[in-house]
Amino acid sequence: MLLYVTIFIHIKSLRRYNMIKKWLLSNLIGVGITIFVLITTFGLVFSLVNKNKITTRPNNVQFRQGPGRQYKSTAALKRGTNLIILKKTRGWYQVRRTDNEKIGWVAGWVAESNALRTATAISESTIILDPGHGGKPGQEYNGLSGDNGSSSANGKFFEKTYTLRTARHIRNALQEQGARVFMTRDKDVLIPLLHIPRLAEKYQADAQISIHFDHAGNENGATSASGVSQYYYHQNGKPLTTALNSALNDLPIGNRGMDKAQYVVLDRVSRPATLLELGYINNPSNFKYIRTAKYQKDVSKLIVRGLTSYFNQNTEMK
Ligand SMILES: [Zn+2]
Repeated sequence: MLLYVTIFIHIKSLRRYNMIKKWLLSNLIGVGITIFVLITTFGLVFSLVNKNKITTRPNNVQFRQGPGRQYKSTAALKRGTNLIILKKTRGWYQVRRTDNEKIGWVAGWVAESNALRTATAISESTIILDPGHGGKPGQEYNGLSGDNGSSSANGKFFEKTYTLRTARHIRNALQEQGARVFMTRDKDVLIPLLHIPRLAEKYQADAQISIHFDHAGNENGATSASGVSQYYYHQNGKPLTTALNSALNDLPIGNRGMDKAQYVVLDRVSRPATLLELGYINNPSNFKYIRTAKYQKDVSKLIVRGLTSYFNQNTEMK
């Protein structure tokens, strides 16, 4: 009797299975659309629910009391800490930890960095890089004519080219450390001088760095003047400039030292600012270095070294 019932149920379910199969095959398009809609809806709901959630990727993300590296840090978060974003300010996130419900601030670009293994003082910094000059003379940029900057001794090569190339190397080297970098220009255009401090104020930059090459003597003549120099104007730019001055001692063309100078980009900014002259473009033996990618990369390594020591000295870390 039991055997009979079992076989009966089996035959019945087999018949039902065949019916379902038949129905599915004849309604293939409808079934496909239904599955697609279900998956999409689920994905949408899932992403909406998780929109404000992040998980820290590097180790050592600082949990601060305000949106900037100058605020006190109360914890160093381990990789994989779950956070809920409450607010975003200039790239900083106000977050709530899901493990202990504490509220604080993290640098968004640090917390979500895929490249960084361990966050450091320099990772939390925001840096404005200003490659000096730019644009084609005679062509207008915001009502101003383009500006080549100074020329090499033979008049064929322009400062604007090497400020941009060097700045790109500096940007790459800083980004490798996790820092957030804004370039005032990344092509051959002229940026009005006052736009540069404006950008620094907008992001509350930790350093504004202008890149130039020196020139001495007549317009197209050669000079024997040699070496790099560094400038600041306001007192808050002095420690930054001092750190870069020490780092830039290791260059083959020599270091002329640092000084105070009232350049517009240094004067019109409240953030720490410095201007670097990275060699004499119309000194042929300086220019031999300036034009090479090796020199540009060496300079960027030294600048990162100087900034690392600067930020290590004045950033409170947990
Ligand atoms: Zn210049």
